[in-house]
Amino acid sequence: MGYNLVVLVKQVPDTKRITGEAMLPDGTVNRSALPAIFNPEDLHALELALELKERYGGYVTVVTMGPPRACDVLREGLERGADDAILITDRRAGASDTLATSYILSCAVRQIGAAKPVDMVLCGRQAIDGDTAQVPPQTAEKLGWPQVTYIEKVEEIADGRVRAKRNTGSGWERVECPLPCLLTVTDQGPEPRPASAKRLMAVKKARSRAEIQMELGVQMPGAAPEAIAAEAENRAAALAAKNLLIKQWTLDDIKADLQWCGRDGSPTKVKRIQSVVLKGSGFKKVEAAAQPIADMIHELIDDHTIG
Ligand SMILES: Cc1cc2nc3c(=O)[nH]c(=O)nc-3n(C[C@H](O)[C@H](O)[C@H](O)COP(=O)(O)OP(=O)(O)OC[C@H]3O[C@@H](n4cnc5c(N)ncnc54)[C@H](O)[C@@H]3O)c2cc1C
Repeated sequence: MGYNLVVLVKQVPDTKRITGEAMLPDGTVNRSALPAIFNPEDLHALELALELKERYGGYVTVVTMGPPRACDVLREGLERGADDAILITDRRAGASDTLATSYILSCAVRQIGAAKPVDMVLCGRQAIDGDTAQVPPQTAEKLGWPQVTYIEKVEEIADGRVRAKRNTGSGWERVECPLPCLLTVTDQGPEPRPASAKRLMAVKKARSRAEIQMELGVQMPGAAPEAIAAEAENRAAALAAKNLLIKQWTLDDIKADLQWCGRDGSPTKVKRIQSVVLKGSGFKKVEAAAQPIADMIHELIDDHTIG
């Protein structure tokens, strides 16, 4: 029988390679100055899904919401062993905050489940750019499924229940929950396997329709839009015949209600973006005792730093 497993993966800027050009003058991230990578904890989530497939049988689909270039993480997911990959891309999804992102991802999971019910969604605990760790819990909430966060290991799936070990920060707890459910996996999860050379060669030509369009824009400069569209259709058909056409869904394909997507569906409003540079003089050492800490908290409340 096996389990239908969906792994939500995000392409993120490699924040370990921050240089002087990493931030724009307006305080936003200069994405072109940083290489784009597979969100590190999502690799552990994918590995856990692949191990569950090996233990129990099943099917692993990697899903990302993002611009066409986010297909790089889908190809990497296929290289590492995923069976299928889906790009959710739509201009109307732009400016989505975490609430809108999780609504869109929950619609995608429902759409996958329309063909065969999904048993488990696996996510990284947190993305290294947005850093909120909100998307997986919100997605579980929207699906109406139980969630278990901070997973390091799945011990067993039996009788429609999963038993997993989760990190509590100061120790571990063993949690059992019914399927379908959503798990978030930390970097203490199973060690990601390297991409297999055979799979790498097999899927390196996999493309989504959006990527084909982008490539043709470069390869056929000045060509009529109809000619580009016809050639794009030919190339997509040729890739589909070899099972190398990466599925691409719009908000319509996943039956998303537009009022919950993009800017309209995003209650978070950015008031101001500020680069905070900590200087030596900004530090104040406080003795680790109750009274000095209480004094410090009162000081911070008084100058409106907190509270
Ligand atoms: C007000 C506001 C406006 C924003 N506007 C934009 C914008 O215009 N354009 C833009 O690109 N971003 C925008 N963002 C950022 C965007 O909302 C977040 O990047 C996104 O919601 C993910 O949040 P996070 O990075 O904190 O992920 P986390 O919640 O930390 O991610 C945890 C896990 O959830 C899964 N996950 C998260 N995001 C995705 C995804 N996209 N696809 C698949 N799986 C995923 C992964 O498994 C990941 O490890 C905006 C955010 C805010 C608050």
